Amino acid sequence: MTHQFTALTPEQKQELSSIAQRVVATGKGILAADESTGTMGKRLEKIHVENTEENRRYFRQLLFTADSTISQCIGGVIFFHETLYQKTDAGVPFPNLVKDKGIVVGIKVDKGTAVLTGTDAETTTQGLDGLGERCAQYKKDGADFAKWRCVLKISDSCPSSLAIAENANVLARYASICQQNGLVPIVEPEILPDGDHSLLRCQYVTEKVLAAVYKALNDHHVYLEGTLLKPNMVTAGQACPKKPSPAEIAMATVTALRRTVPAAVPGICFLSGGQSEEDASLNLNAINQCPLPKPWKLTFSYGRALQASTLSAWAGKPGNLQAAQAAFTERAKINGLASTGSYVQSGQKDKAASQSLFTASYVY
Ligand code: 13P
Repeated sequence: MTHQFTALTPEQKQELSSIAQRVVATGKGILAADESTGTMGKRLEKIHVENTEENRRYFRQLLFTADSTISQCIGGVIFFHETLYQKTDAGVPFPNLVKDKGIVVGIKVDKGTAVLTGTDAETTTQGLDGLGERCAQYKKDGADFAKWRCVLKISDSCPSSLAIAENANVLARYASICQQNGLVPIVEPEILPDGDHSLLRCQYVTEKVLAAVYKALNDHHVYLEGTLLKPNMVTAGQACPKKPSPAEIAMATVTALRRTVPAAVPGICFLSGGQSEEDASLNLNAINQCPLPKPWKLTFSYGRALQASTLSAWAGKPGNLQAAQAAFTERAKINGLASTGSYVQSGQKDKAASQSLFTASYVY
């Protein structure tokens, strides 16, 4: 932002804004492949594959070596620390492989959540200690953007004002440190879908949380043109008996974003948050078709909703490699279309793609 003590040179700003724009170029979104070792273990367990470093490497290689046409719909990939330093069978470092496809490399830099004592098990996110040094090293090692996930939950008493203020502030401090080190911060204040709350309650909470986040980013002099937002879509709680349609979700989501997210932010990349692959695509498509003016790119940064059918097609068997890569390419293409509102569902829905990917109190 414009202020008395300059934080970034014009060249640094230019670099940050051009990285952000490359990630969310028209028709492109993000593959979130930054599951921690524990989370990856849960994914692998479902397909009866052991959670070894080699199996994690093999699965990420499967994703990163998929058909080169994915670079038309994937603008960025978020890595976990371990993956940033892994290589293909042929010895090519993963970051080089991804960059050679014209895809921007990102890195998860938070260190997970910690309970805010005296609250109803609400959390903040840790990892600020030494963050500047880690960001500088990641930049040298090929990353150009970063991700930090904060988690809020909805109940009668949550999110508390403490949880909202603390998470907004830690996201802003993280964003400021990233920008000083040449990394575009993805600001992720995820509001969990757990609960039976209505669409309207989710919209209210989303507006409160995002308003606090953008106030904090402003207080910390974060350069918004060099950031990306990764929010939840506004949906009804996972256990709410009334299921809103994609058009209703789209209207509530775009309304909340228009009220809180400055137009200077180049892109908003939704998380999938336990939606089925197909729902995540249909909702993103509806969001892009929403008739309200939308000053930012509205795209995806999906983890579960980009990998679920790939994982089940692979099932840990080398013979399934091609089928698994085809499943990934298909999902990536569908989401690329949804990011411009041009996805038309064809024929019957694939069964695996329609399965809910919800896990209670999700940890990444
Ligand atoms: P999901 O799309 O699986 O919700 O996860 C995306 C992510 O990166 C969460 O931090």
